[in-house]
Amino acid sequence: MMTITPGFTGSPLDRLDQARHDEALVAAMRTDPEALLLMLDGLHPLGAEEGTLGWAPLAAVQVEVELALLGRLEGRPRFVALTPGVSAFKRSPELFAAITALPPEEAGTYAAARSLVDWHARHGFCSNCGHATAPIRAGWGRHCSNCEAQHFPRVDPVVIMLAQHGTGEAARVLVGRQPTFPPGRYSALAGFLEPGESIEEAVVRELAEEAGVRVHSVRYIASQPWPFPSQLMIACVAMADDDRLAIDTAELEDARWVDRAGVTAALAGEEGAPFVPPPPYAIARTLFHHWLAETAA
Ligand SMILES: [Zn+2]
Repeated sequence: MMTITPGFTGSPLDRLDQARHDEALVAAMRTDPEALLLMLDGLHPLGAEEGTLGWAPLAAVQVEVELALLGRLEGRPRFVALTPGVSAFKRSPELFAAITALPPEEAGTYAAARSLVDWHARHGFCSNCGHATAPIRAGWGRHCSNCEAQHFPRVDPVVIMLAQHGTGEAARVLVGRQPTFPPGRYSALAGFLEPGESIEEAVVRELAEEAGVRVHSVRYIASQPWPFPSQLMIACVAMADDDRLAIDTAELEDARWVDRAGVTAALAGEEGAPFVPPPPYAIARTLFHHWLAETAA
């Protein structure tokens, strides 16, 4: 079995979750001359184009907003500014170029910071009573002083899956494209889990809804954070006995079955490959690599 290292995973950051409850300790880390602040422009990682995240000495920076304690790295406390109003669902080509330049573990640290800052920017008011909320736990929650509700950064689970038809040399996987994808790109199908649903049930439902494919034998492969704004991508493979498609064109522009040679050519970026694969930091690409290794004779 191949080693799987999805994008946005492997951050070396020690999250210090115990320390978040110790206000005196967090205050001491804030004034530690070794403390560093993650450099963001809005939510854009400054300096990432060079292949590493940018950090500035916290003591040298004028910060007029709340900070969140990201953790400790290389012995130094790491913070990020909870800048109001930064929440932006738009993702620029420049952002993805920056993420492409980052090693997965650096991207992992960025993902944690980005999702957290974005969550704070969207949760200034209590979802229970509408009153203003304030950060607690060193930036890993918010508290409403009116109704005493506590709110914590949410993670939204998404299933992303390959349906497989046939085995051995005849094995093929289902890929699909959304209208918003770059030209030629196809990827694994995906969808949000709904309340009251297991991972396996969500995989079966999404493939039936989007492509009309009935699957069974759902297997979990790997997961990755996807910080736009804060999904957890849960990658699976499932078996289909029937390859007939009924595409929901409201969701997908196209879907098709691709054999091992086609997936291999796509991942290699060959001219004439049946599709352009997702980028290396997307778990769909990890899933394709896994599937090729798993179905190798
Ligand atoms: Zn409230």
